[in-house]
Amino acid sequence: MGLKKIYKRLFSEKRRIKNRLLFNKISSVFYCGNTYSCNCCGKSFRKFKSKGALLIKRENAECPYCASLERIRNLLFYIENETPLLTQKLRLLHFAPEWCLLPVLKKAENLDYITADINPDLADYQVDIMNIPFPDKSFDYIICFHVLGHVPDEKKAVDELYRVLKTNGVALISTIIDPNNLQTFETAADTPEKRLHYYSEPDLLRLHGRDFDQRLKQGRFNVEVIDYPARLGEVMKKKYALGDGRRELIFRCTK
Ligand SMILES: [Zn+2]
Repeated sequence: MGLKKIYKRLFSEKRRIKNRLLFNKISSVFYCGNTYSCNCCGKSFRKFKSKGALLIKRENAECPYCASLERIRNLLFYIENETPLLTQKLRLLHFAPEWCLLPVLKKAENLDYITADINPDLADYQVDIMNIPFPDKSFDYIICFHVLGHVPDEKKAVDELYRVLKTNGVALISTIIDPNNLQTFETAADTPEKRLHYYSEPDLLRLHGRDFDQRLKQGRFNVEVIDYPARLGEVMKKKYALGDGRRELIFRCTK
């Protein structure tokens, strides 16, 4: 058995994330500098870490200190500038919560903040997004980033998100988009190797195309597609490394 497998058996996923963040905090001294900044942890660096392998490698993607990615830094800017999430009394359901956002959202005393994940180790509630254990119209806001590409029945998941959102609520949804694909690509890729080949990640079940907003609309949502880095402008986009648009579009869904 390889060292990686032994490590995985010895530590829970939550512990492994904590170990990684602790290691990051120590090793981030090697990235000291002022070229790039992270709005999640407030620190600056000479560069961010790269992410992915070979053809899908992204330079300047991951904060060396808090492990935020392009889409997460973008989301935090959007939350701060464009939503009342950090100021008003609201009930927020956050799927697959990004660890670098947790300190910000948990600190917001105005929020009734509920985190959910299929892995009980990673959130307050173990939740299957295809069968959400909350009554209709429970939440003012939902954040669901990079989840729907991994769900076996996407339509069921979107129906559930619609059901638990309040009438005037807002769901902020994001996924990996291949802008070259008009339609979402799904094939019989039944191994991690095949899924990596077809979808660029070993645990994706589909690679969304430019029809992603239509797929959400089929779930009855009204959808506004937001390229927030473009709104922030080139200087901010570069300084905070906000990505190339494949992973950072925000689909703002309302009823
Ligand atoms: Zn950071």
